[in-house]
Amino acid sequence: MDLLDNHQSQQERSEPCPGTLYIVGTPIGNLGDLSPRAKSILKNVSLIACEDTRRSGQLLKTIKSKAPLLSYHKHNFKSRQSQLLEILERSGSLALISDAGLPGITDPGQELVHAAKSKSYEVICIPGPCAATTALVISGLPSERFCFEGFLPKKQSLRKKRLEDISQELRTTVIYESPHQLIKLLEDLSISCGKERPMQIARELTKRYEESIGNTIEDVLKYFIENKPKGEFTIVLGGNNNKSNKNKISESEALNKLNALINQGEKSNIAARKISKETGYEKKWLYSRLHKKLDK
Ligand code: SAM
Repeated sequence: MDLLDNHQSQQERSEPCPGTLYIVGTPIGNLGDLSPRAKSILKNVSLIACEDTRRSGQLLKTIKSKAPLLSYHKHNFKSRQSQLLEILERSGSLALISDAGLPGITDPGQELVHAAKSKSYEVICIPGPCAATTALVISGLPSERFCFEGFLPKKQSLRKKRLEDISQELRTTVIYESPHQLIKLLEDLSISCGKERPMQIARELTKRYEESIGNTIEDVLKYFIENKPKGEFTIVLGGNNNKSNKNKISESEALNKLNALINQGEKSNIAARKISKETGYEKKWLYSRLHKKLDK
């Protein structure tokens, strides 16, 4: 099926379909990023659930949508659920939007999708902007494998553990942060990952004063100490690729760790993979040493 056929078959479907929940991506700054399909859904659904009715009301005014709005946010999402599912039950169609970007990405959405799917209603995403992937693809850091952390926990113990995990992560990590917490987060990352770790910060994506700041945690921290953080920020952090740093424990210590895991009941290949990730020693090497030891 080519692009044109695909487009035609969508039209034939004459969206919005009854009994369907649409998860609609909305702009993260530039109103021009609202797709024609998103506009059509937002004009024609029975109801739009949104985080802030006043804010979304402004967006809907620009596209002349008269669809009714109902607030759906982190403080009322549980109590709203049955009311929203009832619309689908009555063969209505429902759109969920957030203040900006993709609902469900550090915004409400996941619970409603789960509830709708468990009642066998169709759930369709009208894809749109997302700060995480937008920042990732312009970072120049490896994007073939990446992970998303959203906002880091505020509670000290949880935050410490999360920072440790991030410092060991081999893949590129994407993090969200508010402007008044940005410097604190950069200081924490500098301690856990080292100031030389590659980093790019995307500021005000898709907006007039959009900019990218990098190339290491040290550079970024210096920049924001000199220029007070203002606007919205997405942080893209390079993975832990520093083999010499990772191999700081000795071979025998790494093998002891491996044996300890196996003694706790872990399968040897899984234990080798975990210790490889933790220490930087090759999984194959760990595994071969293990067998040497067992053969003796
Ligand atoms: N659901 C949204 C998405 O798909 O990107 C994210 C919502 S989350 C509550 C808001 C955070 O996303 C901000 O604090 C910031 O870290 C990031 N963000 C949103 N818009 C941005 C922009 N225009 N530029 C940079 N980061 C942005």
